[in-house]
Order: sequence, then C-alpha cells, then structure tokens
Amino acid sequence: MTFWQYSGVHPAPEVCISCGHSIKDMVVQAHGKSYHTSCFRCVICRQSLEGLPFNVDTDSRIYCVSDYHKVQAPRCAACQMPILPSEGCTESIRVVSFGRNYHAECYGSDVNLV
Ligand SMILES: [Zn+2]
Ligand SMILES: [Zn+2]
Ligand SMILES: [Zn+2]
Repeated sequence: MTFWQYSGVHPAPEVCISCGHSIKDMVVQAHGKSYHTSCFRCVICRQSLEGLPFNVDTDSRIYCVSDYHKVQAPRCAACQMPILPSEGCTESIRVVSFGRNYHAECYGSDVNLV
C-alpha cells in the first residue's frame, strides 16, 4: 500500500501525467509521476483518491485499494469471481489445484475430491 504526498513548492511547472496539462497549484506525486489532485482517480471507479490510500500497478495505473484487490486478485476457476480476503482478514483463503485457483467453497462443489 502506498500513501500519497503533497509537494508544495516546485521549481519547474509540472505536467499532469493523466491529462497532459501543466499543474499550477497542488501537485500529487506517486511513484515519480505528477498529477492534478482532480486527476488523481481510480481507473476503475473514478473515485478521487485525494488523501486516500491507493495502489499503482505495473503500468502506472492508479486504483483504490478495493479495486486493486479486485483486479489483482486471483480468479476462481469455477465461478470466475476474484478471490478476495474475507472482511477483516488480510489473507484470502483459496484452493490451488493443478495450477488453478478456487474459492474454498467452490472447490468442493466443482471438483470431486478423491
Ligand atoms: Zn491533470
Ligand atoms: Zn476504485
Ligand atoms: Zn468461486
């Protein structure tokens, strides 16, 4: 998880990586890239992440924490839904079988256990 930082004073006008316009007031910096505060949004739900924790993927796309988990989570081979940690847990419970991921409950119904 990454937390954002404001950089107040900047010597050269910075360009927003999202919209391409120069930034005259507040700059948000994430992983060495600059954004307007208003452009700093989750690519999935478009929620502004101003002041919120966020994650960045390998293509420098920004996600809110819950969408990041949805996108990055392994998918269940039975129901095709992402396998997410249950409420209050950091570890997701999954069954890995022959290189496929399953929800624990889907595994029992979809696959005949020997
Ligand atoms: Zn912008
Ligand atoms: Zn989001
Ligand atoms: Zn499932």
